[in-house]
Amino acid sequence: MKAEIVVVGSGISGLTSAALLAKKGRRVIILERNKRPGGALKRFTRRGIPFDIGFHYSGGMGKGEILRALWKYIGVWPRLAVLPFPEEGNENLRIRDSGRVVRAFFSYDRLEDELQRVFPDEKQGISTYLNKIREISSTIPFFNPDLPLTPYLHDLFSPKGMSLAQLLTSLIQDTDLYAVLSTPVFLYGVPPREVNLTIHASVAHPLYSGVYAIDGGGQAIVDAFLETLAETGVDILTGQEVESVIVKENQVAGVKTSGGEIYASHVIYTGHPTSLLDLVPDGIFRKAFCNRLRNLINTHSMFIVFGAIDDPDTLGDMTWVNYYNIRTGLDIMDLDLRHPEKSIMVNAPGRRDSYSTGASRGVLLIRMSAWDEVARFDQDAQGKRSAAYRKWKAESADKMIEQAGRLWGDACSRIEPLAIGTPLTFRDRLGSPMGATYGVRHSMNQFSPGVRTRLPGLWLSGQGTLMAGIMGASLAGMVTAGEIEGLEPLWDEVRQCR
Ligand SMILES: Cc1cc2nc3c(=O)[nH]c(=O)nc-3n(C[C@H](O)[C@H](O)[C@H](O)COP(=O)(O)OP(=O)(O)OC[C@H]3O[C@@H](n4cnc5c(N)ncnc54)[C@H](O)[C@@H]3O)c2cc1C
Repeated sequence: MKAEIVVVGSGISGLTSAALLAKKGRRVIILERNKRPGGALKRFTRRGIPFDIGFHYSGGMGKGEILRALWKYIGVWPRLAVLPFPEEGNENLRIRDSGRVVRAFFSYDRLEDELQRVFPDEKQGISTYLNKIREISSTIPFFNPDLPLTPYLHDLFSPKGMSLAQLLTSLIQDTDLYAVLSTPVFLYGVPPREVNLTIHASVAHPLYSGVYAIDGGGQAIVDAFLETLAETGVDILTGQEVESVIVKENQVAGVKTSGGEIYASHVIYTGHPTSLLDLVPDGIFRKAFCNRLRNLINTHSMFIVFGAIDDPDTLGDMTWVNYYNIRTGLDIMDLDLRHPEKSIMVNAPGRRDSYSTGASRGVLLIRMSAWDEVARFDQDAQGKRSAAYRKWKAESADKMIEQAGRLWGDACSRIEPLAIGTPLTFRDRLGSPMGATYGVRHSMNQFSPGVRTRLPGLWLSGQGTLMAGIMGASLAGMVTAGEIEGLEPLWDEVRQCR
């Protein structure tokens, strides 16, 4: 079999780069090891209730915003029913140490008003913080598309400057407010002391500018891409694990999969960057580069109870409000391994669907999790996990449900678990080492792999290369396609679609 370009992985980054390259007339094949395409965007159903895994909401879909422009350019936008969160939508943040409740609205103005109401002594610091995020975002081409991409990408991959923690401690005294302003870190997985302001602003700015769901959840995005890709002749071969990259005369010649060989002059790998080392012959990369990839530090994993609730309205508006219980201060990402259920979140992304009645009872209870919690069960044969693992899972879920009941009322204590995701689940289903939710940490302390490699024809893409999240991984797909086709000309065409 032959193609010009093979894309390894059918998550949002692979779908995006394939769609862009096919639009440029390239013959593209996507290879996916799972049976269903879509990576983290896929939905699953239990008792008729649909559950989203890796897409609950995202910014960037408003008028003139980047994800909308990219999806218009690709042609998927008209196939999607985008649902803007209403004005009252918010992250309902309960600070567990003080019991204070803060509504973090998805709007700069409403957020500022709410924060100034709850923290009247911090008015100046709040305004300065929000202005700083606005100011930084105006230097990021994805939010100010009049800018070229190349200089921004160059700086992003050699990050320096102030951390989020340094900014907050220079402006603010109240530790509850540190926690509130740090909560966007839950959407990219880097603690406030380790993230620079550009990465933080890349997630916080779209969040403060308005967020959106999609009718039908992440699956609707996958389906829209599949229709568009079919029209442009892209083949998606599922159940095909890429086992190695074929190299001839020091350049890419194709890939070897579980089903045979496919020849191509470009290969885009969208899995975890560390796993690329297993796919290329020894000696292709310099030793220092191999060590850097091998030693990449990953984001946390999650423990998720996908359950059914008998009274979804118990908390108020569960459709457009996400409820959190978080600790005060800058350590909001620290996991208390003795009581990991203390910091917990409950949301119901499926309730945003317009057409599914079953969705109204679906609820997700989420907490951070670490590989250490499950490492001892990794010896079990895959697909045949031990009774001890099942017992641990059920007990951990029960603790979260009890905690949710204490925090948010009786109906939460009656949540019935229908499926449970642990770091092992995410490792096996998403292929992310140790089940890392957002893959590689884009932190100040380590290098971020770019999309280029020193092997001609071999490219990286995905959340590990640029930014996490649907927006980050989509833009990574665009950057990789741009490196092959010409980055600035492609950027020029995409930004015309604003
Ligand atoms: C629980 C959870 C909740 C999230 N919530 C949100 C949210 O609300 N909003 C948001 O914006 N983001 C969210 N995210 C993050 C977002 O889902 C990811 O950042 C994004 O989907 C990553 O896309 P990707 O293409 O980089 O990777 P993936 O979606 O992981 O795709 C990579 C694909 O490559 C395939 N693959 C890897 N290696 C091989 C191989 N050797 N051969 C063949 N195939 C291979 C994998 O099977 C996979 O399908 C969430 C993530 C998780 C886990």
